[in-house]
Amino acid sequence: GHMTMTDRSLLILPGDGIGPEVMAEVRKVIDWFGTRGITFDVSEDLVGGCAYDAHGTPLTDATMAKAQEVDAVLLGAVGGPKYDKLDFSVKPERGLLRLRKEMDLYANLRPAQCFDALADFSSLKKDVVAGLDIMIIRELTSGVYFGEPRGIIREGNERVGINTQRYTESEIARVARSAFEMARKRNNKVCSMEKANVMESGILWRDVVQEIHDAEYPDVELSHMYADAGAMQLTRWPKQFDVIVTDNLFGDLLSDLAAMLTGSLGMLPSASLGAPMENGRPKALYEPVHGSAPDIAGQGKANPIACILSFAMALRYSFDLGAEAERLEHAVNAVLADGVRTADLMGPEGGTPVSTAAMGDAIVAK
Ligand code: ATP
Ligand code: MG
Repeated sequence: GHMTMTDRSLLILPGDGIGPEVMAEVRKVIDWFGTRGITFDVSEDLVGGCAYDAHGTPLTDATMAKAQEVDAVLLGAVGGPKYDKLDFSVKPERGLLRLRKEMDLYANLRPAQCFDALADFSSLKKDVVAGLDIMIIRELTSGVYFGEPRGIIREGNERVGINTQRYTESEIARVARSAFEMARKRNNKVCSMEKANVMESGILWRDVVQEIHDAEYPDVELSHMYADAGAMQLTRWPKQFDVIVTDNLFGDLLSDLAAMLTGSLGMLPSASLGAPMENGRPKALYEPVHGSAPDIAGQGKANPIACILSFAMALRYSFDLGAEAERLEHAVNAVLADGVRTADLMGPEGGTPVSTAAMGDAIVAK
């Protein structure tokens, strides 16, 4: 057939530090898909310190508007020592925060996936992590990090630090729906974590998740667990889980814990999703978990896999290209199985690391 315009729009924001280096490798992957007829309408723009250098702001209104229009945003990393002394209002990180806030990205997805070749890299026993593939969904826009009242007040002759855990029904319901939708695309199983034994917000959380389940997702298997027991179970036998949904605070802790079951910062992708748009796809921002890594920036040492796997998440969750996402993940696994390693993946036994570009080339070749 003849070529047709696609409706797959993607905004790439490489950002600062190693961001542009790892994003260049994603570009190779996108080009490869293009040669197979899977094309994307890609635009590229500035975010973070580089945007400040060019425009005096870490995110222009024009870039913000573009981010609201596209199917998915893929971001590299922002920040660096060059910008440390900037005023808070124009710090590179503010660009990313503005994107998250204005796109209302309330569901933060952090997969913990163990590639076979790296099973020895974990601090846990190999059989505990081999084949691990779970997804933690953290509520990102509410809870104790945002609740009012907050502050440090004086009470008698001492100071008191105050934060408020606060969740509305609708805030819980929407992230619960994200989790159930996710489960339907995976193994149809959700575990919700809170502390309903000691927290009012936990009682409401459990109620609302159960209600949404019973009314809209009875086909999904749902269980509830106290978050402290959940932390224990995650390290004891993480493969018992598929999708975990939890609040902002517990999700912060549990997603870091789960991520490090599997290895290096250079391997970890993430997605932040918001409400479904008119086309049914959620607003979405994909980014590696790692930051701009100024210590290795510009040296061709960065591992591009976290960013490449973030693009795989975009394929799956924004473009309904699950088979292509799997293909990309298989290629990553195969390259690792061949022993190809960037410096961050070298064990104590040593060896010769490959460059960022060589890792990207190897994945494309697979
Ligand atoms: P941020 O504040 O932006 O989250 P950070 O201080 O947490 O940044 P990162 O930039 O995430 O730090 O990186 C921490 C260290 O991990 C880096 O200094 C770097 O040595 C290493 N690192 C991070 N990402 C990668 C990567 N993709 N490849 C190789 N090493 C990495
Ligand atoms: Mg960090």
